[in-house]
Amino acid sequence: TISKYKMLEPDDRIAVAVSGGKDSLSLLYILYKIEQRFPHSEIVVVTVDEGIPGYSEEAPVLVEKHCRRLGIELVKGSYKQMFGYGLWEVVEKAQSELGPCSFCGVLRRRALNLMAREVDADKLAVAHTLDDEVQTLLINVIHGNVLRNLVNKPIVVDPEKRLVPRIKPLCLVPERETTLYAYLSNIEFQERDCPYATTALRQDVRRMLNRLELKYPGMLFTIYRSFEKLRNVVRDALPQKQLTPCALCGEPCSGEICKVCEILNTIAVSYTHLTLPTTERV
Ligand code: SF4
Repeated sequence: TISKYKMLEPDDRIAVAVSGGKDSLSLLYILYKIEQRFPHSEIVVVTVDEGIPGYSEEAPVLVEKHCRRLGIELVKGSYKQMFGYGLWEVVEKAQSELGPCSFCGVLRRRALNLMAREVDADKLAVAHTLDDEVQTLLINVIHGNVLRNLVNKPIVVDPEKRLVPRIKPLCLVPERETTLYAYLSNIEFQERDCPYATTALRQDVRRMLNRLELKYPGMLFTIYRSFEKLRNVVRDALPQKQLTPCALCGEPCSGEICKVCEILNTIAVSYTHLTLPTTERV
């Protein structure tokens, strides 16, 4: 997948986003092995504590253990440090119809980009599997955002270079294979699910796709490739969307105000007053 989509250069400094789950730890071990063959490349792990009581405490300890074992630099951050609130506080204060995952996704994307930029990474590797990618494609269809599926490539680049290019080396790997890899490699990972996961539309889509994949094996690949074909056909016809600095915080966004500022404004916090990012290096 890395070669097919030309995701990495031999001298890239790669920030790997590790949550402590099976997918991201499998990705870390796989990239670590590959990186051994490229003496000019480097790996640094970035991990974010979302601030979800009873859930977020376990992962940073696990991630640190793996980084020490592999001798990899680790940079830790949290929503609380970067945005002033943990996720549960955002959810409580916003009192919104939007589910926690809608907030979490926006904050995590921003947090990871800030941390990857802080460590001078050339690429930010995220562990989205084939299952995650197909779920996202269907969720976009359900929400009427089908055009998003046509620009959602395995490598996302911002010409202004404020967004660290994001790569998804597991986008063609089914989740059951990353799980198997983690077990066969004796990788200790966080098995507990996020308490908010059951509230998400993604969970229903995941169950539906799992049922269908069991009955019609290979279906996930077929859906992914169908959208890929469509993307190739319409690529040149689509208008190029230029990212511009958010009017409030200056981070890249596609509108006037970025989603992070929109969220923080609803809970009456000015993001511009915070010093970003505050991270801890291990
Ligand atoms: Fe965040 Fe939702 Fe994932 Fe929980 S399940 S970590 S709230 S995106």
